[in-house]
Amino acid sequence: MNGNGNGNGNGNGNGLCCVCKHQRKMRCEENCVFAEQLPLEKKEDFQNLQKLFGVQNLIKIVGTVEDQSEKHRAVQTLIMEAKLRAQNPVYGPTAVQANLSAQLSLAQQELNLVTRMLAFYKGSKPSSSSAAPSSSSSAPPAPPS
Ligand SMILES: [Zn+2]
Repeated sequence: MNGNGNGNGNGNGNGLCCVCKHQRKMRCEENCVFAEQLPLEKKEDFQNLQKLFGVQNLIKIVGTVEDQSEKHRAVQTLIMEAKLRAQNPVYGPTAVQANLSAQLSLAQQELNLVTRMLAFYKGSKPSSSSAAPSSSSSAPPAPPS
């Protein structure tokens, strides 16, 4: 249902996640929200979370979410936030947002250019007698180099 696809479920034999291990539990409870996304092999993700939020705050934050599937999404989001914050301590996720925003702006400019070129070439049908156009105000924009 969740499309994990790697088929190893919890990923470790004794069913213990990083959070439960940190709490010195022997194994995860049946509906442990961290089991799926923070198995022992995702130690780096857990360390990022521990560094940014602290384990007790992490548990508290996820505990405020009522819906079980939303809890999983909350854990995913926190993992991503902690990872990006570890990669870029100053801007964190904002750096990714700014980068994507710049890419979007470039793509928008390119689209505008192509739309204008298309409109120009659609409008410049071959005329029968007059070879040279009288006005050059509708020159096509220069293609991106
Ligand atoms: Zn657990």
